[in-house]
Amino acid sequence: MKLNIADLLCEPGKKAVHHEELDCSDKVVVAEEISVKTPVKLVFAVEHLGRGLIEFNGNYEVDLKLRCGRCLKPLKASLKKALKAIYTPDDFMGELELDDKQHRLSYQQKKINIWELLKQDFVVTVPMLPLCNENCRGLCKVCGKDLNESSCDHQSQQESIDPRLKKLQQLDLD
Ligand SMILES: [Zn+2]
Ligand SMILES: [Zn+2]
Repeated sequence: MKLNIADLLCEPGKKAVHHEELDCSDKVVVAEEISVKTPVKLVFAVEHLGRGLIEFNGNYEVDLKLRCGRCLKPLKASLKKALKAIYTPDDFMGELELDDKQHRLSYQQKKINIWELLKQDFVVTVPMLPLCNENCRGLCKVCGKDLNESSCDHQSQQESIDPRLKKLQQLDLD
């Protein structure tokens, strides 16, 4: 998933358009948290802006596999979004202004790593705590039972032990 840009680097202003379907099935984004479920459909343009800077502008579509942050059930996230970046030579020291949607990466040996860019974008796009359902009750901390399916004694115990915490949860802190 590396793209050779030797051609582009010969000539500032040069641009190339690519259509790709990347099979990422063997790739891990974040171990046990995020993996790739379908090939990534990617259309993008790369342009040499001068000084060895490569602008990447594209769109991608993919389904990611996540898991619920509370009950650990597998979840699917379908992403369809723009992908923008500036790739710099790895020894680039100059000034660089990025807009807030642009990732910044560097390249070595005249090859840009597209997987690195996708990975960065997946991580910032996926919620920190994905939930199967806003009201997911999660797993019991004592016996590990899925509390969406059934309750257990530990749960009622915890609730009765800690009335103060319960009150706190009801406060509106806004
Ligand atoms: Zn859940
Ligand atoms: Zn329990």
